[in-house]
Amino acid sequence: MSQLKIPILNLKPQYQSISEEIKEAINRVVESAQFIMGPDVKLFEQEITEYLGVKHAIGVNSGTDALVIGLRALGIGEGDEVITTPFSFFATAESISNVGATPVFVDIDANNFNIDPTKIKDKITPKTKGIMPVHLYGCPAMMGQITEIAQEHELKIIEDCAQSFGARYYVTSSSDDSLCKDETLVTINGKATGTIGDVGAYSFFPSKNLGGYGDGGMIVTNDDQVAENARMLRVHGAKKKYHNEVLGYNSRLDTIQAAILRVKLKYIDQWNEGRRRVAKTYNELLADIPDIITPEIPDGHVFHQYTIRITNGKRDEVKAYLAEQGIGSMIYYPVPQDKLPVYKGKYPVNSVSDLLGEQVLSLPIWPELEQNSQSKVVEVLRQAIK
Ligand SMILES: *Cc1c(COP(=O)(O)O)cnc(C)c1O
Repeated sequence: MSQLKIPILNLKPQYQSISEEIKEAINRVVESAQFIMGPDVKLFEQEITEYLGVKHAIGVNSGTDALVIGLRALGIGEGDEVITTPFSFFATAESISNVGATPVFVDIDANNFNIDPTKIKDKITPKTKGIMPVHLYGCPAMMGQITEIAQEHELKIIEDCAQSFGARYYVTSSSDDSLCKDETLVTINGKATGTIGDVGAYSFFPSKNLGGYGDGGMIVTNDDQVAENARMLRVHGAKKKYHNEVLGYNSRLDTIQAAILRVKLKYIDQWNEGRRRVAKTYNELLADIPDIITPEIPDGHVFHQYTIRITNGKRDEVKAYLAEQGIGSMIYYPVPQDKLPVYKGKYPVNSVSDLLGEQVLSLPIWPELEQNSQSKVVEVLRQAIK
């Protein structure tokens, strides 16, 4: 019996659609022999500032480095606390711990998988210096309330945008509108994620919405001093070569990656629109299946992942059945950050995050995914849930 295999992610159709441009870009860098901080890095940074509507963009080695350097550029370190979500990839909390600060976890909102702003205030102490929201799966966090809390308590916001390149926060579509002051909402409405807080940190890991062909990351900020700090930290803590002022990193964005990403940036809106189309189709096809909760589709959500909740307690069996039938799926993330071995026993329970850790299942999604493949995924899912 022939079986149509559908992976969780297929990067090949996208490459095929732009392969000539990509080869040209790579060749240009190789032939110029300017491999480290070549012209494409500066040009890409410039294009990012224009695309996102932000003053500074600083290319770095990875999304993780963007978080670490972003935190340090804001002056966050030893003895400080940073509030974040337990429901994310470990790089989020790891970056906070690695600068010597302590992650403080606030439970999530089950409707959008992101930090629940109504629970933040209880966790603020005199040591709290920042909030690190994650726009998980490409869904903007509730930035209205987060912005107000940060202003009131003089906290820095560093947005983990690893999964949200091209996402925008729209007031009308957000469930936290009613709790915010109009002025706050007016100033942030329609802004790109990453440009609302003090620092935005992006990842260009190949599977991300704007993915390179290797590691890469970007820090964005409107603050001149923070930008200067970040630029210094990415090259061993030196403003002037061989005059190192602080302990930094070797964390430059690779020039070949920058050249590739410049090509891909031109298509990102079209690709994100493709992801939204896939999400809408799934929501329609899945609507009548019991024990499945489909995600909300607010404006500005870019669906890095399409993630459903399976509420009958059989998520792992469903995933195994899909795999048997050749359908890829993933659990992002099976163990919330606060329960990982590295932090074991250190944190109180976050019950929503724990529950969703047992329910979530991400289905195949990429911009070019065809409707007949989606129908196949849903057909198998229907059998699995019975
Ligand atoms: C991918 C990811 C990161 C880390 O990005 P890298 O480029 O792999 O270092 C950080 N946070 C989240 C939420 C991610 O998904």
